[in-house]
Parts: sequence; C-alpha cells; structure tokens
Amino acid sequence: MSSSRSNSAIPSKRPENRATFQVIQWIFIVLSFCLILWLGKILIVDRETISANEYNPIGGEREADIIRGSILASNGSRLAYTDLSEDGSEVRRYPYGAACAHVVGYTGGGQAGLEDEASEILLSPSTLMSQLQSWASDEKVQGCSVQTTLDIDLQNYIYDQLDGYRGAVIVSEPSTGRVLAMVSNPSFDPETLFDNWESIIANEESPLYARATMGLYPPGSVFKIITALAMYRNLPDYNGYSYDCHGELQVDDQVIECNDHTEHGYMELPDAFAYSCNGFFGKAGVEMGSRVLRQTAQYVKLGETFNFILPESESYMNLSESDVDSMVAQTAMGQGETLVTPMSINQLTCAIANQGSLYTPYLVEAVLDARGNVLEQTQPALWGSVMSESEAAFLQELMRGVTRYGTASRLSGYDYEVFGKTGTAQVNEDQDSHSWFTGFTRMDGKTDIAITVLLENGASGIGAVPLTDDILWYYYNRSVD
Ligand SMILES: [Zn+2]
Repeated sequence: MSSSRSNSAIPSKRPENRATFQVIQWIFIVLSFCLILWLGKILIVDRETISANEYNPIGGEREADIIRGSILASNGSRLAYTDLSEDGSEVRRYPYGAACAHVVGYTGGGQAGLEDEASEILLSPSTLMSQLQSWASDEKVQGCSVQTTLDIDLQNYIYDQLDGYRGAVIVSEPSTGRVLAMVSNPSFDPETLFDNWESIIANEESPLYARATMGLYPPGSVFKIITALAMYRNLPDYNGYSYDCHGELQVDDQVIECNDHTEHGYMELPDAFAYSCNGFFGKAGVEMGSRVLRQTAQYVKLGETFNFILPESESYMNLSESDVDSMVAQTAMGQGETLVTPMSINQLTCAIANQGSLYTPYLVEAVLDARGNVLEQTQPALWGSVMSESEAAFLQELMRGVTRYGTASRLSGYDYEVFGKTGTAQVNEDQDSHSWFTGFTRMDGKTDIAITVLLENGASGIGAVPLTDDILWYYYNRSVD
C-alpha cells in the first residue's frame, strides 16, 4: 500500500513539473533562436548591404569595441592595417602610401575610398564568438578584412610611371569586372594626410581628386568609337562611305583640322579610324545628325555609372537638335561639349572586348575573418548589355587596325595582341592637349585585360600610347614570384 501510495503520489506531480520544464525549455529555445537570428543579421545581412551602400554614416561607436580590419591586395599584401602600440593606442598604416591612396582612401579626421565605403565591413567582428566577446569584455576584437582585386605590383609600377604627370590609368578584366589597377596622380600619402591637410587642400593640382573615377575630360578621338558605331547602326552603306582628306574640313564658318594638318587622302572607315581622320568623322557626324549621335551615346550607356564601390562622376554629352552643324562635327570627332571619365571609357572598352556584355566593375574580392578565412566571395555580376555581339566584333576590327598600322602601331609585334583607340583632346590654346589611349589585349586568342590611360596636357610628354606600351610590357613580362 505504502509503496503504491508513494508510487501514486510521485506520478501525480510529474506532468505539472514536466509541463513547466517544457515551457521554460521552449522559451529558452525561442530566445536563443532570436538571438542567433539577430546576431546572424548583424554579421551577414548588415555586412552584405555594405558593398552596395554608397554612404555609411557609422563608425565611432564601433571603433570603441573593434579594431578596424585590414585592406589587402589580391596577393594578400597589406594596403592598410591598424598597428597596435604597447600603450594600446592604434595607428593606421598604409605601406603603399600614395600609390593606392585614391582606392584605399583614408580614415581618421574624415574618410574616403574603401576606408569609407567598406567601413562597416572593416568594423564588423568576424565571428559570433568575437561578437559576444566584444560585448562581454572591455577588450577590443579584430574586425573583418577586405581583400581587394588590386594587383599591387602593377598598381605600384603604374604609379611610378605617372610620376610628374597628372592623369589616370585603369586596368580591368572584361570577363569578370575585376579592377586590377586604378591609379590617379597626383596623389597623397594617407598616413600623413591630416598632418599636411592645409597644404594638400591648397595644392592647385588637387591631389585628393580621384581622377580615374571622378575626373571629367573631353574624349578627343576616343569618341570616334561611338561615331563609328553610329555609322554601323545607321548608315546602310557604312562600308562604302568615303572621304577625301586634305587635312581640314570646313563646316559652317569653322575649320576642323586633322592632327598636325595631316592630309590623309582618300579614306574609308577602317583607315579613317586607324589614322584618326577628323574630317572623315566630322563629315559623317553631320550627315547622321545630332539625334543619331546622341542616341548612340545613350545606347552604349555613356552618362551612366556602374554601381562601383567608389564614387563616380557621370559622363555627359551636350548636343541638341538645335545645335549647328559645326557643333555636330566637333562632337563626332570628340571635341564639342562632351565630357567623360576615364572609368566610363574603360567600361565601354570592357564591353567591346567582351562581345557587348559588361560586368559590374568591382574592387572587393572577398571579406575575410581575423584569421584570413573567407566569409564572403564576390561573384562576377553582369551589369548589362552595352551593344550587340556583331557591333562589338565590328568595333574590335576597327581597334585592331589602330594598333596594326594606325596611330598606336607601336603596340604591335608582341606575344599579346592589342586593340585600341588613341585620342588627343584639345583643351585650350595655351595648354597641351590631353592624351588618351583605351584598348584591350588578347593572349592566346583569349581576351585578357582592358586598359585606359589619360594624361592631362600629356600630348607633348610621354604620351598615352608609349605609357600603355610600358605598362603592358610590364604586365606580361615581369617575373612573378
Ligand atoms: Zn584627315
């Protein structure tokens, strides 16, 4: 009996106990789940929104808990990192200084470049554990690092070549959108920027200005790419179109001269493009009219930006149907009021090199945790179609002529084949013209890299073509360890 009583007494309490316990257990599970979701959101979702986010007003509060992560080159070299001294103070180091300054940027008294645009990633704890640790203790934890697409040796080499010039060079990979090098000069040393702030902002050459993505320049003859495409799309007999060049073309009361008043003689499209005959393209432009030129520029997305992580200026073409013929002729050969960024010309070149399809240009290859494990890897993403395959093939052929026998024939005769277009853009009578080259290479029949070079008032200096020659030679012949 006693045993049965005691037996009956215990079970009678059990269901209540179990129910209470189960409720507590469920509350605990739900709370844990919420906590995990919330942490997950902070670590994954918040971080992912960054790459697309142009403006990030966070910083201060996180910098109190987290040591800003490093910015790395594609080979792992540190482009920016935080040095901890024994007294606990932090100093941001930039081992490559001015060579990467416009891309890597700076932080401290203000922010720019990746230091600004990727700030939230750099100030994210890399694991759940370190997130919890940062809340639980006073000790700072290491933030995530950003591995870039930059080929640091190439970047450095280009920076050295630009010494003494104002200008920009962009090297990118048309088949993915990777930016391998992006140099603007003059530049500045991010490590000593705030010490030299007054003199840097007073410098008339604007060293803080990221010319590669922000600089707006007349395209010069590089614009003939667009005029040639307009002919292909709008003149059924573009192949039979000809012009007899005597070194100048009279339109209204204006005279359009060929470079150095060269008399090119009888020209059809491939030769006119290869030798960059202004008269030919001026005349073709007037025959097609302003509407066609403007439509073609819109068709190849001139004036759009590319969802790039760094700020970009918008290129623009100012041509209306009320403009006189001389203005139309000037625009068709690359003068007029058109202004473009080196970035937009590089992207147009990438699209031509890649059969008309443009990949979104990117600089961040991966996000790494404090131990160097990959947390996120960027996948190449199609930005859009800029022209048809046949249009791209047509322009490729014209660009091949430029380097085989035209104005950039110096770039021929290598293991790699170069396709491109030169440009000389007049600024005003007192200054030297800007010097342009944009093109792409093929190696073993495969499209390799696109390169755009702009030298401000550089026509009488080294010039964009010889500079391109040096850069490509270095790219293909350096010994890689
Ligand atoms: Zn000519």
